[in-house]
Amino acid sequence: MTVLYLEAETAIEGDRPMDVRDVRVRRQGMDRHATILSESGDAATEDEARPGYASAMRRYYVTTFGCQMNAHDSERIKGMLESLGIGEAAAPEEADVLVFNTCTIREKPDTRLAAYLGDAAARKRREPDVVVAVGGCYAEAQREVIFERYPFVDVAFGPGSIPHLGEWIEAGGHAVPRGRFGTHETFAATLPMHRERRFSAWVQVSMGCNSKCAYCIVPAVRGREQSRRPGEIVAELEALARDGVKEVTLLGQNVNSWGRDLAPGIRTEFGELLRGCDAVEGIERIRFTSPHPKDFRDPVIAAIAECATVCEHVHLPLQSGSTRILKAMRRTYSRERYLSLVERLRSAVPDLALGTDIIVGFPGETERDFEQTLEVVEEVEFDSAFTFVYSPRAGTEAAAMPDQVPEDVKRERMERLVALVQRGAAARNADRVGRLEDVLVEGPSRTDPTLLRGRTRRNTTVNFTGTAAAGELARVKIEGSTSTTLRGREASLVAA
Ligand code: SAM
Ligand code: SF4
Repeated sequence: MTVLYLEAETAIEGDRPMDVRDVRVRRQGMDRHATILSESGDAATEDEARPGYASAMRRYYVTTFGCQMNAHDSERIKGMLESLGIGEAAAPEEADVLVFNTCTIREKPDTRLAAYLGDAAARKRREPDVVVAVGGCYAEAQREVIFERYPFVDVAFGPGSIPHLGEWIEAGGHAVPRGRFGTHETFAATLPMHRERRFSAWVQVSMGCNSKCAYCIVPAVRGREQSRRPGEIVAELEALARDGVKEVTLLGQNVNSWGRDLAPGIRTEFGELLRGCDAVEGIERIRFTSPHPKDFRDPVIAAIAECATVCEHVHLPLQSGSTRILKAMRRTYSRERYLSLVERLRSAVPDLALGTDIIVGFPGETERDFEQTLEVVEEVEFDSAFTFVYSPRAGTEAAAMPDQVPEDVKRERMERLVALVQRGAAARNADRVGRLEDVLVEGPSRTDPTLLRGRTRRNTTVNFTGTAAAGELARVKIEGSTSTTLRGREASLVAA
């Protein structure tokens, strides 16, 4: 069970898709530290290390805040910078181009960004040649004031303007002082990509959101929903499979409403997309996030149940267990409809793992409303939950609502909610002990390098004793559990 939303650059993990080598390059009597990127994985040759080859290369560092969509956008930002001949730096202090891919879902990322930008400003005072670029949802939300508020920023761009980034940071990595904001209408999904993980990939299927959740800034900063064409999505999966990717996560702000805005000849729905992706040879696991409960229609549930590669894991944002609050949030479902959806999903997909998002302290939330949220959590027994303290966002409907809940009340409710979620997740994980799970191996465990780490189809992290290589599917006998992880031993070793 995870109770923190991905909100830091540490959220990005996994193997690098390229070999990154540091070489010392002598140029004009100066020792320069340069990074050579080699797609082939071959050692950098002497030719490559010659002055003029790598020494001219400027380097970038991208700091990412926020959700998986942002993490994926950062892969596009990196790919685009690399296509301009700018290499990746190992640390911000070593970079000539500093990019911040921001989030503004809640106040906390804004505050953290301010601290990072303070450091960037100091760096820029010392080294005026350094380029500072601020992208993502915060940049879009603050587009009118960002250059006044942060005069040292060279380039600012919203989530839909990533394709323009190359016009504003030219080949070689210098900022171009012209148009610094685009519209949020262009798909980044066709840009070059620097994948962060070797065997798993995100695939963007739609951008923007047509919902009007009263608390949410996403529709204002990411625009109206646009679906990517099915043929393009399947072609991307095929290319990923050829590249050795085993697992894809389809991404959309409202992923299961995908398809409805497509042109009449190709208009279709999310269940059909799942079936099309399932047919791609070589892709062994398909996940998707985030679906909206209102768009979980029968064909989508049938596709999850029938497609062998679609994993038994659904992230189903609840937000609140009180129908009154759900109505005020404009979520368009009731507590009863949510619970009956859980029942339909669980009866169609045995052994389904359920994750959720819950907001605590939405304006007007009474103790009774909150207790109803606890009741739903108790009844459903989620396997994981991202829990959020409500944070008013300027310009959203909820920010202007009366009856804002005092901070101390929100905190106290949050503590109770987290304790309950943890209890449920611990019980669900304890249920797995003694079972065999198929685990997609990601690499060594983060806490104990003598163990391997991977994920089950139900999306639980497993640390285990074994010999499998990263990218392989291993059968693991589960021997222990916590509320967040499982522990085990590769089945072949158990038999031995
Ligand atoms: N599109 C997804 C959905 O509808 O579930 C996720 C959108 S958002 C990036 C992720 C989560 O952030 C939401 O599900 C919600 O729980 C939370 N969130 C959004 N706005 C918030 C706010 N103003 N305060 C606290 N949490 C918020
Ligand atoms: Fe925000 Fe609601 Fe759209 Fe999700 S569905 S992105 S919470 S407006």
